[in-house]
Amino acid sequence: MKTVREAVPYESERRAMVETQLRRRGLRDERVLAAMLKVPRHEFVSPALAHAAYDDRPLPIGEAETISQPYIVAAMTAAARVAPGDKVLEVGTGSGYQAAMLAELGGRIYSMERNPRLAERARERLARLGYSTVEVITGDGTEGYPPAAPYQVILVTAAGPNVPSPLLDQLADGGRLIIPVGSRENQFLQQIFKHGRETHTRLLDSCRFVPLIGKHGWPEEQ
Ligand code: SAM
Repeated sequence: MKTVREAVPYESERRAMVETQLRRRGLRDERVLAAMLKVPRHEFVSPALAHAAYDDRPLPIGEAETISQPYIVAAMTAAARVAPGDKVLEVGTGSGYQAAMLAELGGRIYSMERNPRLAERARERLARLGYSTVEVITGDGTEGYPPAAPYQVILVTAAGPNVPSPLLDQLADGGRLIIPVGSRENQFLQQIFKHGRETHTRLLDSCRFVPLIGKHGWPEEQ
């Protein structure tokens, strides 16, 4: 519940989210927890849903898309191991919340969104909130974004049938690619490390994401 005396809006909800949804489930990365405590998630949903922004679930953001559940955002951010100064490509800007999280860890963020209306809204929102190290690009993120490649981190927040090859090509040596892969209904979150020409994949969690639609993802309609 929001109290009238609270100086920072939704601060107590953010604290409760970090304790009950993240720490209690074993998330221990203090940099990620500090960023989750700082980013105002309620600013990334419509005012009508602000009261539910810190609930343990994804929420609609319009255009039939969603902002991911806080735990998934934190787990993906931790898996990305962003260091200050890293170049990060996010595929699936949506509301811009995940991009803001990556920016809090000191990354230079290129975030791609295929839906121009969502891209424009996220661009305005991130600028208003002062996230000057995030650039939102409208386009098909399954092709990556060659102008700023290579990236130390690539993080995909929609699920494809397999790993788009342009993303592996644009990953730096030593880089991490975090991506849900599987059927349209169920996927596994993969953490892929690139070492020279080799890749090494760890399966993290089962998950359920909206489809990654594009040249190297799912077709538009099926
Ligand atoms: N990261 C977002 C956030 O923090 O709000 C949530 C992303 S939402 C689960 C997935 C997004 O991926 C949708 O906005 C969808 O339009 C976008 N998307 C799907 N396929 C894409 C593609 N090929 N390129 C870029 N964006 C894509």
